[in-house]
Amino acid sequence: MIVTIDGPAGAGKSLVARLVARRLRVGHLDTGAMYRALTWLAADRGVLPGDGPGLAALARSTPIELSTSPQGSLVHIGGRDVTEEIRTPAVSQRVSEVAAHPAVRAVLVAEQQRLLASGDWVAEGRDVGSSVCPDASLKIYLTASERERARRRRGDLAFRGVRQGEQEVLEEVRRRDRLDSERAESPLRVPDGAVVIDSSSRGAEAVAERIAGMVERTADAAS
Ligand code: C5P
Repeated sequence: MIVTIDGPAGAGKSLVARLVARRLRVGHLDTGAMYRALTWLAADRGVLPGDGPGLAALARSTPIELSTSPQGSLVHIGGRDVTEEIRTPAVSQRVSEVAAHPAVRAVLVAEQQRLLASGDWVAEGRDVGSSVCPDASLKIYLTASERERARRRRGDLAFRGVRQGEQEVLEEVRRRDRLDSERAESPLRVPDGAVVIDSSSRGAEAVAERIAGMVERTADAAS
């Protein structure tokens, strides 16, 4: 059983996906963390965000290891814990350019599909329901108003000790949404057959509860 949760920046996908995965006792795959990890690695190795072939070669040669903890996804590259580094504004600023290269997506999507073939998962990202796993049992498109998404993103950053102004965060969210929606290769969009949930005025717990209920009803109907 695969549940996909796609949506724009700051919609609350990671927390909701984690809660749903915990409740259903299945794995949680944060595909955004893979694009972020590659972006961090590229900066560390001096590969430019515009260098598609160089980035793809880096992705092929350096496995990104994802695991989960009660606080969220843990990310290691070559044994080094980069969980905090991949969430910095420097990585957020470059990640959409890195993720737009078809050659990069080919490597990371193949790895995501390999992982998803191994069992039951809640997978989140931008193209998981539309392109990585179009046959998922349940597809969700999670969104929220732009202001609310920027407010949440600012809260996440503050939690990590990074202070950014409201307007600056709003602009970063807008810019990333625009790049992710306008790219040629698997852009952010509502996947066919997805249930759209607006979480602007609903907490993550309530949204997760609703999604878990939908999964349970889908499983009951199939049995
Ligand atoms: O989910 P998160 O905000 O961490 O994702 C970071 C970036 O990774 C997105 O803005 C997008 O550019 C890219 N991404 C993607 N496809 C996915 C997941 C993330 O292109 N499935």
